[in-house]
Amino acid sequence: MLSKTKRATKSTTTHSRLPPKNRSPRGPLAPDRIAAILKALDEAYPNVECALTHHSPWELLVATILSAQCTDVRVNMVTPELFRQFHSPAAMARATLPELEALIRTTGFYHNKAKSIQGAARKIIADFAGKVPETLAELITLPGAARKTANVVLGVCFGKAEGVVVDTHVFRIARRLELAKQDTPEKVEQELMRVIRQDRWISFSHQIIHHGRQVCVARNPKCDRCNLEQLCHSYDKTRQS
Ligand code: SF4
Repeated sequence: MLSKTKRATKSTTTHSRLPPKNRSPRGPLAPDRIAAILKALDEAYPNVECALTHHSPWELLVATILSAQCTDVRVNMVTPELFRQFHSPAAMARATLPELEALIRTTGFYHNKAKSIQGAARKIIADFAGKVPETLAELITLPGAARKTANVVLGVCFGKAEGVVVDTHVFRIARRLELAKQDTPEKVEQELMRVIRQDRWISFSHQIIHHGRQVCVARNPKCDRCNLEQLCHSYDKTRQS
């Protein structure tokens, strides 16, 4: 019969031989906790959609570029007239910057945004035969389109999950829920791509964006209305479980 010391030694040795990939992470990234978060999001936001009004990949691309540092509500007030006048990349490629600036002024940073949407239109005409490209690698070559914009267009218009949309809401809430720790959207996206299964990347970001607008707001989150509250240990929760 093994002594207590030998039994303990044997048990520890067996465990240490398990390759790391065979061990499930515990703590905030435990698979059962991730599954519970996804389930709670499905229950709270079963039919989420992109809040930016659009009728084509082109319109969503432009609306997403305009949404930087601006609310979707404001963008939706501007885009109907913008697209009435410049309904395609070809039409917008011919627009002058003052024409575009006048139409998008209220979205803020309108000098840069006008250059971006005009530049994106011209590149789509020059390099992509007038059609919005359908890969992340191509989309991020367009002026004004970084990974967030590319992921929005790919997910919403083409059903492609090449990455996770990390806007201000996803960035904040991923860290509050301890799904990510890093301090840039690009790094947080890589963390989320490791812990969220790929077939949930599109819906996860839509759901978190809605959650960030309605409940988990930046200041004084409404934790008493949050169905993730039992799973959340954020330092700035407004209610203790
Ligand atoms: S409990 Fe509060 S801080 Fe945590 S996810 Fe919900 S609203 Fe956000």
